[in-house]
Amino acid sequence: MDQNRLYYQTPYVRTFRCTVASCEESKKGTWLVTLDQTGFYPEGGGQPSDTGTLNGIPVLHVQEKGSQIFHELESPLEPGTQAEGILDWQRRYDNMQQHTGEHILSGLVHKHFGYDNVGFHMGSDEVTVDFNGPLSPDELDCLEDEANQLIYENRRVKVLYPTEEELKEIDYRSKKELSGQVRIVEIPGGDICACCGTHVETTGEVGIIKIRSMIHYKGGVRVSMLCGRRALLDYRQRLKDEAAVSVLLSAKLDLVPEAVEKLKNESQEKGALIGRLYQSLFEQKAARYPESSRPLLVFEEELAPVQLRQLATLLYEQKKGSIVGVLSGNGKKDEYQYALGSSSADMRAFSKAMNRRLHGRGGGSSLMAQGTFQAAREEIETAFREETKND
Ligand SMILES: [Zn+2]
Repeated sequence: MDQNRLYYQTPYVRTFRCTVASCEESKKGTWLVTLDQTGFYPEGGGQPSDTGTLNGIPVLHVQEKGSQIFHELESPLEPGTQAEGILDWQRRYDNMQQHTGEHILSGLVHKHFGYDNVGFHMGSDEVTVDFNGPLSPDELDCLEDEANQLIYENRRVKVLYPTEEELKEIDYRSKKELSGQVRIVEIPGGDICACCGTHVETTGEVGIIKIRSMIHYKGGVRVSMLCGRRALLDYRQRLKDEAAVSVLLSAKLDLVPEAVEKLKNESQEKGALIGRLYQSLFEQKAARYPESSRPLLVFEEELAPVQLRQLATLLYEQKKGSIVGVLSGNGKKDEYQYALGSSSADMRAFSKAMNRRLHGRGGGSSLMAQGTFQAAREEIETAFREETKND
């Protein structure tokens, strides 16, 4: 174990004294400082770097290159001088809780299903773990229960530095072939894994492991989880959100799902009613146009795409034009939504030609095309006239 890595020797150190060994300006204009010893954990093994201050100067990021640990600072420190490092402890402790929690879950998944953790990401708001095999929601519930049981039992997390001979006797999880001194983190009864990260001393400090979601991912699953205070904050926020929804729905908390379902049904009924009203409105509109074998262009006020299609369909089915274009502004200057319909001409080719002239986007089938033109009304009228002159 490197004597100068205080985050390994005493993972709970929050402040430490050190001597500045070197200081160089980076390409970004920040300063890269090495120290004779450090408590700042450098990014690695899925765990983000620590932050904090060195002599009051913000430490933005910490990275290991070769065997050196570089602290990225906003301003320089003189080599040879003494410095005091102060960690952003809340951030580090949170990382330790998430990391130990991840080991507990990954170890149990490995023990019961034989899957490996093939991806671990500790983001600022989400922690995800990828496993190379499927898990069902019920299996995840069981894993979550067992993981939390290990927390209640408050087991001591062990960090081992075995010799090569000793290592051969240990059955441990590892993401890659390791060389040199291997650091093993053991959670008795839960997991044994090669790891370079920092961990809490006892499983009880993880507080809680809560799995939030699971998605299918690359033949396996991606599990989103939270531990410790993050899980508490998430729970707090969810209760606030739930209370807000309950007020908005005027429903008691336990009746929120029923209230949402009722609202959804009402909304669908209203949608169907609006559709019928528009249909009769459009039938009246369509009746105003005579049957014609000439192209027909109609501008309407503020229609949604579905209504544009409804009106265009009615007009070409009732043979009110060889090609029917229905357009509606959408509140932006010189931007129009369109629906182009015809039972004789190919609307895919026609919309392509119109899009080209009118900075348009969209397409559809041979009968109906929909999209947007970025052009003024007069330009659209001219383009429509010229592109339909042979129809
Ligand atoms: Zn680890």
